[in-house]
Amino acid sequence: MNKKNQISFYESVSRNFDKAALHSNLDKGLLAQIKACNAVYHITFPAKIGDEYVVIEAYRVQHSHHRQPTKGGIRYSMEVNQEEVMALASLMTYKCAIVDVPFGGAKGGVKINPFILKPEEIERITRRYTLELIKKNFIGPGIDVPAPDFGTSSREMAWIYDTYMTFRGGELDGIACVTGKPVSQFGIRGRTEATGRGVYYGIREFCDELPEMKALKMDRGVAGKTMVIQGLGNVGSYTGTICQEEGDVKVIGVSEYEGSIYDPKGISVTELLKHRKETGSILNFKGAKNLPDRMSALELECDILVPAALENQVTMQNARKIKAKMIAEAANGPVSSDAEELLLKKGVAIIPDMYLNAGGVTVSYFEWLKNLSHMRFGRIEKRFDQQAYGNLVSMVENLTGKYIGQREKNLLVKGADEIDLVRSGLEETMVSSLQQILEIKRSKNKISDLRTAAFVCALDKIASDYSNLGVFP
Ligand code: GLU
Repeated sequence: MNKKNQISFYESVSRNFDKAALHSNLDKGLLAQIKACNAVYHITFPAKIGDEYVVIEAYRVQHSHHRQPTKGGIRYSMEVNQEEVMALASLMTYKCAIVDVPFGGAKGGVKINPFILKPEEIERITRRYTLELIKKNFIGPGIDVPAPDFGTSSREMAWIYDTYMTFRGGELDGIACVTGKPVSQFGIRGRTEATGRGVYYGIREFCDELPEMKALKMDRGVAGKTMVIQGLGNVGSYTGTICQEEGDVKVIGVSEYEGSIYDPKGISVTELLKHRKETGSILNFKGAKNLPDRMSALELECDILVPAALENQVTMQNARKIKAKMIAEAANGPVSSDAEELLLKKGVAIIPDMYLNAGGVTVSYFEWLKNLSHMRFGRIEKRFDQQAYGNLVSMVENLTGKYIGQREKNLLVKGADEIDLVRSGLEETMVSSLQQILEIKRSKNKISDLRTAAFVCALDKIASDYSNLGVFP
């Protein structure tokens, strides 16, 4: 318990693991091995900030070496601490297993406030942190591959890549040492939106499941459902815009650091992002009502609450006031395990983080594969497919004597670009992983919640990896 009498994020992950372990037949020793963090690296180094030298605290945790490389983002925040990074690294292992991405989990954290530092200060810290990882062999395409997380973006990944290549210049696959890079620097199209897009696919699929919707006394289908979003960072903003544009979802509440707003007629997330850029705040948005504080939006009546910010946002302090029918965990660990127990008893469905926000690491996997193959997806087959589809269309036209308009023809014969392939791979991953989780939930009658089912899914896959390695047969 921490000072606010709240269980910590790490304790929440640990309790959720133990709850799921009760439903698996795995050996106790194997479960303990799966749960443990395999390597924890804590570094302190000096950095010049303004005119002062300050000591920076940083971490990289590799939770599981059962598959390598390990994979996970790097977080820049003043809340970073060892337990938090350990919890996040553990979630990465389960996440990768659920979506069949062949990595162990890892996470990094640097205790700085990136929102007040100058870009050159962030650059110095990022390069020094990378150097520390290189020194200890904690980074590399086959070792451990970082990516963006809270407070970092493609800009930091470009600095990491550049620093790595400075020291490992001749390494043929060096470009795969980090993912989430800018597209111009060996990144992949669709990575920036990937987590939010994955969240949309996950919500859409879940809302299409008749038994789950019946249990919630809701109509099937995502269109028209009301949504409240906490956090308009990378994940929250793409979740909001894609849910609105592709799913016809009605966003009625948004919460950010500076406060929260409500409009039952619907808030355009795209317009709200513009308003925030112009005014520096989401407050006073046209037609919307400012709520008393940033946590108020979480208590709004809605179909889907999407916490897309940080961990421990729904806890015993506010769980009783939550009126949403579903919570879609776009962030990592937003609902504490004791709050979850309470919400489940109330009949709220929680789509768990380790499945729902796995779109980011899924597309990171595609980027890593692209980097190892040294070629853009679609480069070889695009023209060939276009030609083949074109021949087919011509043949149909000749046989029927009817002609298809040029616009329709262009659509029919289009070969897939990188972005098309990334989106279709991501969609397939999110759809099939949800089916695996639901199958476990429906086949084991003692499992009534999605997180436990997702955990059991992950545990079975990780255990099978261990036995393939000849460990714990
Ligand atoms: N930071 C993201 C996550 O929590 C992405 C990790 C990655 O792409 O490796 O899933």
